[in-house]
Amino acid sequence: MKYTAEDIRNALENHELTTYYQPQYDTINGQMKSAEALVRWIKPDGTVISPFFFIPVAEESDLIMEIDWYVTELVCKTLVKQNMMPQFPISVNFSRRHIQEELFAEKLSALVDKYDLLHPLIEVEITESAMIGDEEKILEWIVSIRNAGFKVAIDDFGSGLSSLQFVKDVPADVLKIDKSLLSRNCEDEKERIVLESIFTFAHRLNINTVAEGVETKEQLGFLRSCDCNRIQGYLYARPMPEEEYLKLCYEHKVVEEATDILQSQSAAGTMNLLINAIFRKYPLVIFINLTRNSFYMMAYDNFTTTSCPSAGIFDELIVHGASTMHPDDREIFDTTFNRTKLIEDYYSGIQTERLVTRQLGDDGIYRRVEIVDYFVKSNYSEDIIAITLCENLPDEQETIDEIEADIKKLSELNVTDIMTIIKKHLIMNN
Ligand code: C2E
Ligand code: CA
Ligand code: CA
Repeated sequence: MKYTAEDIRNALENHELTTYYQPQYDTINGQMKSAEALVRWIKPDGTVISPFFFIPVAEESDLIMEIDWYVTELVCKTLVKQNMMPQFPISVNFSRRHIQEELFAEKLSALVDKYDLLHPLIEVEITESAMIGDEEKILEWIVSIRNAGFKVAIDDFGSGLSSLQFVKDVPADVLKIDKSLLSRNCEDEKERIVLESIFTFAHRLNINTVAEGVETKEQLGFLRSCDCNRIQGYLYARPMPEEEYLKLCYEHKVVEEATDILQSQSAAGTMNLLINAIFRKYPLVIFINLTRNSFYMMAYDNFTTTSCPSAGIFDELIVHGASTMHPDDREIFDTTFNRTKLIEDYYSGIQTERLVTRQLGDDGIYRRVEIVDYFVKSNYSEDIIAITLCENLPDEQETIDEIEADIKKLSELNVTDIMTIIKKHLIMNN
């Protein structure tokens, strides 16, 4: 059935549009956490029309904006009805057209304030595909919404072509993983790897994740082993009318969370904790495939320089790296980490390569950085893989203080201890 914009406008004016709610659940303990509002057109005879039959038409004009604001107001009313029970945040779908809307965040604030609701109860969903185009404008739009205290979710992530690079720059709170990325049984190894990396990636950026369209126990089992926060899908609940949703909220018992969070931790979550611990000491970790001349890098904010690309061709990384070094260190850096040389090292049985260099920080100051390459064996191929761990060394003054402290101790020490101290300083200052 094809509806015209006029049919839809009439439906809107006659209050035939309403919202259904689909709850979202905590992946690990299965408790209800939040919901998504999904518009429905209920004809006077009771037939329920899916948004697939009218949203695309509405999106051809600004009519969609009126619908979205209408839905948002209905959501506010639902939230008000939850005043006496646990109040769960609700996410609302906004068409890309709103990115162009003047004073969007102010308008949303005014509406939500009219109902005296807390702003974090509303989550603005915008699809990944809407993110293509004027990136500056999109970022500005998202920042203004978040500054007003609302949450922002990127919807249908993985269905379009947006790059992880862009998501890295978008300050979103939530990433909704599109159902197309999840097959029914999650058996495919490659699919699992892609999903695991998306969840890990999101969490490294402090973004919460919701898996959409979860229909089977197999999918749930897999998602539990990943670092996915919330689940939305028919397995738990279908979108339902407001009354039914409110009943669920009312019945919801706030069960105590598991006391030991390590017990409720997924395998990937544990890996993330480990990676976070590694980052304390090594703010820059680089994975290198020496055979294929490629690398992937994870950098923490406190690493000396932030100008390195996050993935690409390893030979180019070395050229870039050398350009950020103190001129006196460039040659030794280049000869130590030259790819042909590293491959030779590997075949001659060397297991690590290390070097301390002075690297130029974004603030224009040189800092001492220790770079260590570890050759590791991959389970998947014969390619030569190296992992680089970089550490910011204490600055010169701290080193001098340390040398002084050690010198003061010299008279009390024996020859072996003295040799150990000398070696330590030689290494630190090589
Ligand atoms: P969406 O935002 O991706 O919403 C999720 C859709 O997936 C919903 O379809 C939901 O019913 C469906 N779904 C949920 N769990 C499962 C599952 O386990 N399996 C399967 N196969 N499907 C599942 P729905 O409600 O028909 O909405 C379709 C689309 O219409 C939405 O996709 C959204 O893009 C759009 N839409 C809905 N309400 C609004 C609205 O108020 N404003 C705007 N601009 N768009 C809306
Ligand atoms: Ca959505
Ligand atoms: Ca979606």
